[in-house]
Amino acid sequence: MNPQLQFLIELQKFDLRIFEIQEQQQHIPELIKTAQAPSLELAHRLKLIKDAGEALTKERRSSEQELSVQEEHIHKIRGRLNELKTNKEYQAHLFEIELARKKKDLLEEAVLSVLERLEQNEKDAKELEENLREAEEKFAREKEQLETQVNTLNQELSELERQHQEHARQMDAKILARYSKLKTARKGFAVAQVRNGTCSGCRLQIPPQLIAEVKRGDDLLNCSYCHRILYWETPSDKSSWAEATPVDLERVDELR
Ligand SMILES: [Zn+2]
Repeated sequence: MNPQLQFLIELQKFDLRIFEIQEQQQHIPELIKTAQAPSLELAHRLKLIKDAGEALTKERRSSEQELSVQEEHIHKIRGRLNELKTNKEYQAHLFEIELARKKKDLLEEAVLSVLERLEQNEKDAKELEENLREAEEKFAREKEQLETQVNTLNQELSELERQHQEHARQMDAKILARYSKLKTARKGFAVAQVRNGTCSGCRLQIPPQLIAEVKRGDDLLNCSYCHRILYWETPSDKSSWAEATPVDLERVDELR
């Protein structure tokens, strides 16, 4: 086989893995965001409940104040009992007290109601705080795992890039440029094996004449359809990464 072709097949091994790592890395911010969503949602709900709690506390203060003003008022009315002269004045006095007491009953009900709502609000807030704490702990663990994954991928990536560069240095510049252009156009998959008379890149049938030339392996030949650089499978290549196609990426992992 043309040694440059052999280099290209090797180079593609690195590129496919680099491409795969970059794909995984692109998803990580989204994965972090998804992992954080439950705790953000709980924090938002907790804020609404706390705001409602503050409003209830204010309502409690003002209704208690109204009640004490009313109690004061009743006390004053009662204090006027000795000043009453006539029966008519006395009847009016009783009526006034009755009215004031009715109002006081309503105010007491309002205070009780606000106390009940406040109690429920505090219970809800406590429960949500507990849920939020758990969600935040879970998110912290998931985030840590994802960050570890990022570090591992980064390490592997820089090692692959180093090997890639080392490899590329030994190659013919023109061939390398041709490969790089194809690589960009074909999402990292620029060198394709001929399998069962077809190009493993585009899966189209290759003319027998071209197959014969590829088999000889003297020149770098392109698929007439997808323009990938073609190579013939040799027994030693059987377990090579270079067999991999983007749809075979899982296989690439197995073979590593
Ligand atoms: Zn093709």
